[in-house]
Amino acid sequence: MKAAKKHITLAVGLLLSMGLMACNDSTPAAPETPASPVAEASTQPEASATEASTEASAHEGHAAASENTATAEPAKAGECDIELTGNDAMQFNTKEIVVASSCKDFTINFKHIGKQPKTAMGHNVVVTKTSDINGVVKDAAAAGAAHDFVKEGDERVLAKTKLLGGGESESITLDVAKLKEAPYSYLCTFTGHSGVMRGKIVIK
Ligand code: ZN
Repeated sequence: MKAAKKHITLAVGLLLSMGLMACNDSTPAAPETPASPVAEASTQPEASATEASTEASAHEGHAAASENTATAEPAKAGECDIELTGNDAMQFNTKEIVVASSCKDFTINFKHIGKQPKTAMGHNVVVTKTSDINGVVKDAAAAGAAHDFVKEGDERVLAKTKLLGGGESESITLDVAKLKEAPYSYLCTFTGHSGVMRGKIVIK
């Protein structure tokens, strides 16, 4: 009997150990869980690191964007001036002058690139409100060549050059704040020229 008891104990011991083994067998499934957190833990920091770097570059992007806006505030070279030409065919080289709204002053560098004298094919640049063109042109004709085709003391004229002949040039500078008040135009007031020689000043 003692031997049988021992066998039972052994059997129980075997069963227990088998059970433990079974438990041990089931535990390997569990170790996977601790194992994956480790894997996750190792990947997560990477992910957050990537996020951090993305955020960092996004911040850099914002910084770059704000820098660009900052540098765009003062107008770039060429936005606050223009080369305007007039020729012997009674033409300006452009029908529109674009002025950057960020410019404080805007300069028109005008050159008569033709060869004819100003008595035959003279050109000037007169800047006035578009709505004042007809009145300015009418008075210009009355003023005549002696006054460079601009009525003396004409308050509708924001800026003007002298009447120029071939090869001559002159620059005029405009107050951009003034240009913003109304649509402005530029034209040549030499008799008969303003119908063709005119253009709009556009603020952008
Ligand atoms: Zn002209």
